Amino acid sequence: MARRRQLYEGKAKILFEGPEPGTLVQYFKDDATAFNAQKKGVITGKGVLNNRISEYIMMRLGEIGVPTHFVRRLNMREQLIREVEIIPLEVVVRNVAAGQMSTRLGIAEGTQLPRSIIEYYYKNDQLGDPMVAEEHITAFGWASVQDLDDIMALALRVNDFCSGLFLGVGIRLVDFKLEFGRLWDNEEMRIVVADEISPDSCRLWDVKTNEKLDKDRFRRDLGKVEEAYQEVARRLGILPEAGVRDLKGPETMQ
Ligand code: 5GP
Repeated sequence: MARRRQLYEGKAKILFEGPEPGTLVQYFKDDATAFNAQKKGVITGKGVLNNRISEYIMMRLGEIGVPTHFVRRLNMREQLIREVEIIPLEVVVRNVAAGQMSTRLGIAEGTQLPRSIIEYYYKNDQLGDPMVAEEHITAFGWASVQDLDDIMALALRVNDFCSGLFLGVGIRLVDFKLEFGRLWDNEEMRIVVADEISPDSCRLWDVKTNEKLDKDRFRRDLGKVEEAYQEVARRLGILPEAGVRDLKGPETMQ
């Protein structure tokens, strides 16, 4: 089958030209990387699950008026998205100390933070995504003061909503990474949530046992990585009808 023109290949996703101007097709791979791609692997079925989980979260966000790039899911591994101008920032929201924050500041993993904390990282693989301050962002023109206001407000809304969504299925949203893009409509510009929201980009812990249900299982060689992603999908009620078997089935383009 003739493929659409590939525009970009990242570590976990590929972007193809979309069927209409202003759209793209986002393809979710099973490839996994960690520590700035020093660790590489494959998590079988991850792409299918992340496609579904991200679809589900972006749709729910759309329903409460949080704008996202998501249009609709096309098939098992692909979704149609709006083409946006990606802002070169990784916006991390933290509710509980973990990962880099624990390492950098010596705060024990699992410590509840006094309030949600937003951090910004400059999206640049060669530099290893360094943490930056709002001052750097506005001084270097990566985003304006107004953009940052919008980004911060959206990030907090996503955090509040997703914290509740996950808590409802017995999962603590420890932290997560968001990306944002500028969506142009004639002369009007809106900041929208882009990329994906999935166990690749979130830390998700079981509320009762603190079991990790996210990419840290891969990063830290904890095993049962696929099972953790499946568990998140299962709890959200979005595992494909036929269950796990369906995940490796043929892909059809629509
Ligand atoms: P940390 O800064 O502790 O490594 O990560 C904080 C949160 O942001 C975690 O939920 C992690 O999954 C997410 N995160 C940070 N950087 C990246 C990245 O480059 N890719 C993805 N997928 N998630 C990231």
